[in-house]
Amino acid sequence: MTGKVSSMAVIGSGTMGSGITLVAAQAGLKVWQVDVKPEQLERAKAYHRKTLDRAVEKQKISRADTDAALARIAYVPSMADARGAEWVVEAATENAEVKKRIFREMQAAFPAPAVLATNTSSISITDIAAAVGADAGRVIGMHFFNPVPVMALVEVIKGLATTPETTQRTVELAKALGKTPVPANDRAGFVSNRVLMPMINEAFHAWMGGVAGPEEIDQIMKLGCNFPMGPLRLADFIGLDVCHDIMMVLHRELGEPKFFPCPLLRQLVLAGRLGDKSGRGVFEYPAK
Ligand code: NAD
Repeated sequence: MTGKVSSMAVIGSGTMGSGITLVAAQAGLKVWQVDVKPEQLERAKAYHRKTLDRAVEKQKISRADTDAALARIAYVPSMADARGAEWVVEAATENAEVKKRIFREMQAAFPAPAVLATNTSSISITDIAAAVGADAGRVIGMHFFNPVPVMALVEVIKGLATTPETTQRTVELAKALGKTPVPANDRAGFVSNRVLMPMINEAFHAWMGGVAGPEEIDQIMKLGCNFPMGPLRLADFIGLDVCHDIMMVLHRELGEPKFFPCPLLRQLVLAGRLGDKSGRGVFEYPAK
């Protein structure tokens, strides 16, 4: 089955889920934004309103388009409220057991031919798909990047059982959302985080080892490598907890000591310094 997708449920309304919802609503889809935490739904709603208002001020979109996009989003506490969605993207916590539990719930709430996609950064698609047994063919990795409205890439990752039809439909949907889909194989971290996360982790080691302070590390990498932002600030935007969880997956799956999370990264997470989203990570974000 191909054809235009007209509705989507997004499970998790954190950094990524809220961005995916916004992009889908602006592309004309009806979207159910699902989260178990009411405060996260409120936060997503405020983010959607603020982002669209800013686009109106900059005359990038009309007020009517903003209102129409917002009217297409429903903020709901459970998947049961999102029944009928043709497509589901899971963007919840980066933990295999949590994701498998959510996928079993998705399997029950969204029957075939709905596609069950995960935005996981590093967890095996085949492993997640195994949780839904006979429905593994409609499970796929649809890895968006942060901030979703700005970043062009969607890494598309097939699990062992993912059907060609699911893959083709995912590529089509990514394009319909204005993104560029690029395939990667189902290995921990895929391409993006296999390469990016060890660099971020090494920046924490450089800081911990006194090679330079965080400002200097970022400035050197920005000016020396022509990066738009340094690795430590990028870690703050990704979320230090998310970076830590991804390193744990890489370490467990690939087995090499180089993937073990830097102790300083771990300490910051334990201290609740999660980055931009918590107001403080490596750097401070007083507005939050
Ligand atoms: P986040 O911590 O900002 O948000 C996760 C959200 O999931 C929270 O709001 C939480 O309440 C919700 N949640 C947890 N369990 C749930 C459940 N059972 N049902 C509904 N909602 C539930 O995390 P994030 O940064 O948005 O990351 C989400 C996923 O996207 C992770 O798998 C992460 O690895 C991946 N990812 C993150 C980034 C990034 O830059 N942050 C980039 C690409 C992919």
